[in-house]
Amino acid sequence: MPNVMAVEGCAEVAGKVAPFVDRNRCEGKSDCVRVCPYGVFEIRQLSPEDRAALSLIGKLKSWVHGGKQSHVINTGNCHACRRCIDACPENALELRPLI
Ligand code: SF4
Repeated sequence: MPNVMAVEGCAEVAGKVAPFVDRNRCEGKSDCVRVCPYGVFEIRQLSPEDRAALSLIGKLKSWVHGGKQSHVINTGNCHACRRCIDACPENALELRPLI
C-alpha cells in the first residue's frame, strides 16, 4: 500500500506532473518502484503494441531483460519529488506536465 502522506522532498501537491517512461531506455530494474513513496510505478511485461514500437536497440534490450519494464499505474499520485529520476540507472524517466 503506497504511503500517501507527504514525505521530505515531496512537498508538491499531486496531479501537476507525472513520470514518462522512455520505452527504448527502460530495462525494468525496479529502482523507480523502490524509491517512489507514492506507489506510482509497477514492473510488468510490455504490451505487444509497446514492443512493436521499440527501436532495434530497444527490442534487443527488451529481449535481454525479459520484456519487462516500468509502467506508471498511479499517474495522479506523483508529487514531483524526482526520486525516481535520480534513481533510474538508464535515465529513462522524465516528469511531464499533466494537462
Ligand atoms: S517524482 Fe517519481 S518518485 Fe516522486 S512521487 Fe513522482 S513518480 Fe514518485
